[in-house]
Amino acid sequence: MAIKIFIDQGHNPENVNAGAEGNNLREQDITYNVGIYLRDLLNNDSRFEARTSRNTPTEILGYNNTSSLRARVDAANSWPANYFISLHCNASDNPNYNGTEVYVAQAFSQAYYLAEYILNAIVARVGTRDNGVRINPSLYVLRNTTMPALLVEMGYITNFEDAQKLRDDQYQFAYAIYEGLLTYFGFSPQA
Ligand SMILES: [Zn+2]
Repeated sequence: MAIKIFIDQGHNPENVNAGAEGNNLREQDITYNVGIYLRDLLNNDSRFEARTSRNTPTEILGYNNTSSLRARVDAANSWPANYFISLHCNASDNPNYNGTEVYVAQAFSQAYYLAEYILNAIVARVGTRDNGVRINPSLYVLRNTTMPALLVEMGYITNFEDAQKLRDDQYQFAYAIYEGLLTYFGFSPQA
């Protein structure tokens, strides 16, 4: 049986629930593309089966912030997925803030260990700063999913160097998340 991975590309293409902007980039475009790359990597590996929350660049989920998040959670819970990965880009008023961080609801959980492998793979492959795995049980998608769930803040869209990586290395971000999954499950690169 394939391991079912639900990939939530954070945000909608436009309001409601649009993403952050910076350096002439939009978070929701980056998360959409990385999600599609990751879905295809996983679906080309017989050990996995993947679905995305947004299946076209123009698809809008929900009618406000909460219902947009709920639609993503409901799709994962009703499948049901074995793991939930939400993709985001961070933003700050301080353009110096940079790096990758991964959020989970609880320390030393399955999601926590998977988050560590994914974070390490992104830092190694893309070269972002390691901001660590962080605990935040209040995040909607982490609180309401019924499977191990994590939220990846791939980099800061408001930081010039991170933004270049988010623009140019979208496949590498996806491949790093795939590598993190392989390591977590103890799988060799391709079956
Ligand atoms: Zn976001």
